[in-house]
Amino acid sequence: MKYVDLRSDTVTHPTAAMRKAMYEAEVGDDVYQEDPTISRLEALGAQLTGKEAGLFMTSGTMGNQIAAMVHTKKSDEIICEAESHIYYFEVAGLACLSGAQARPLVGDKGILNADQIRGAIRGIDIHVPDTGLICLENTHNRAGGTCYTKEGLAAIREVATAHHIPIHMDGARIFNAAVAQGVPVDELTCYADSVQFCLSKGLGAPVGSLLVGKREFIEKARRFRKMLGGGLRQAGVLAAAGILALTDMVDRLGEDHDNARILGLGLADLGLKIDVSTIQTNIIMVDVTATGKTAKVLVDEFKTNGIKVNAFGEYKIRMVTHYGVTREDIDYVIGVTARIVKG
Ligand SMILES: *Cc1c(COP(=O)(O)O)cnc(C)c1O
Repeated sequence: MKYVDLRSDTVTHPTAAMRKAMYEAEVGDDVYQEDPTISRLEALGAQLTGKEAGLFMTSGTMGNQIAAMVHTKKSDEIICEAESHIYYFEVAGLACLSGAQARPLVGDKGILNADQIRGAIRGIDIHVPDTGLICLENTHNRAGGTCYTKEGLAAIREVATAHHIPIHMDGARIFNAAVAQGVPVDELTCYADSVQFCLSKGLGAPVGSLLVGKREFIEKARRFRKMLGGGLRQAGVLAAAGILALTDMVDRLGEDHDNARILGLGLADLGLKIDVSTIQTNIIMVDVTATGKTAKVLVDEFKTNGIKVNAFGEYKIRMVTHYGVTREDIDYVIGVTARIVKG
């Protein structure tokens, strides 16, 4: 059975061009830094984001966690958003790997502001941890793909600089934010000391993320990556797809945003509760309370009808658009939902 798969943009398969590039990729042993394709990908990622260097990671989680390990010391506190991936979805990695404590702050639709961050920064006192890092998630996954504005980021940067605290941006979907706001990605990444972004989500590569930052930061990250078993060998076959993710797949993200908007408005018309102000990129969060059914029950009903979605709470469903989902698929999902809602 063919499914319309809205569970995540991680379900995207490599394009035909990616598979060809993977087949033909020039490779070497990357622990010796001898894989030319990986080096090309890392340089391209660094250049696009305006950073000195990049490092290929097996996953976004690894990129985030290694960034925290480099930026902080044991017993530091890390400011993050209460529903952020690095806090909510990374198996307490900040505590385990960095020996740091998370300081979750509740954002406005996932977005933190400079004042609340300023208010959470610790002073000098024998009782309290040092604030070692500020993490910003852009776009914010659990809030439904919401974006930081450049002004918001600039204000946070000012606070961070005044207190000598680095900023790590979990930019798993930073290219979605850039496309949605019509700006080159480096106009968003310039406010962060380090950025992690996923090649394996809407950009369609089969595996991998990049961590970018200053050269010295990246060299420390390389050691931690080795420690965690992430030193890869002839992974140029993967990097070859990553290069095409960055050169060929960014501009088309706008189609996914259009589809998310059509889907969100269509479902809202059916009486489902959706905060349409959060439909900024390719994720929609649907409150299904009005159907009288739990998310779990609806996930099964959708599946019977050839649609895969994820429950994100007892009465909440997440739907994510990507290049494997067409405009016709969106109409189909709206049609099926209409039938489910009307019983
Ligand atoms: C998906 C995601 C990650 C982690 O990426 P993986 O490659 O799945 O480990 C990190 N942050 C955010 C915001 C994400 O959506």
